[in-house]
Amino acid sequence: MNVESMNLHHIAYLSVGSNLGNKLENCRNGIANLTRLSGIRLVDQSRIYRTEPVDYLDQDWFINYVVKIETDIEPSELLRRIKSIERAAGRKQHAIRFGPRVLDLDILLFDDLVRDEPMLTIPHPRMHERRFVLRPICDIDPEINHPVLCRSMQALLDDLNDQEQGITEYTCSNSSY
Ligand code: ADP
Ligand code: MG
Repeated sequence: MNVESMNLHHIAYLSVGSNLGNKLENCRNGIANLTRLSGIRLVDQSRIYRTEPVDYLDQDWFINYVVKIETDIEPSELLRRIKSIERAAGRKQHAIRFGPRVLDLDILLFDDLVRDEPMLTIPHPRMHERRFVLRPICDIDPEINHPVLCRSMQALLDDLNDQEQGITEYTCSNSSY
């Protein structure tokens, strides 16, 4: 273990998504920009998925995946950095809620922290009902616990009965997405 990773004592899971422009590149650049900053280290990454929009349906499919990071910054500072990276990627401030976005970075879990504020709710308030979050997070750590629902990520995924949340693994053969 090097000196830097010894000091990064929090573990967080972030969801990454895009459905505008070069979606995969937008996601990769967003994570590269985030982990380039001091105090954040990429630990693991899920497989990459193509996912059907769920809340606002009249838009293109998304690229989604989940990353696990180690960090020594606090959640509100992490959110501030995330928002600044979304803005730099060209994300519009007052676009349609749940509508098309060049880059969406959400904090899913931060250690076993529970925080309920409109600007920052952890665990992410909709993560347990989203296949595009649960499926990739289970690639990394299926046994981690949701600190409010007290169920594992795998159990939450198994509980989802909404078969209409289309999700397929991203492969070279559909790489035009
Ligand atoms: P969503 O990601 O749910 O589609 P947005 O990306 O538009 O929605 O985020 C809307 C607001 O949600 C953000 O401005 C942010 O302050 C707030 N928010 C609350 N909890 C979180 C969280 N866990 N991760 C990211 N943003 C959050
Ligand atoms: Mg978001």
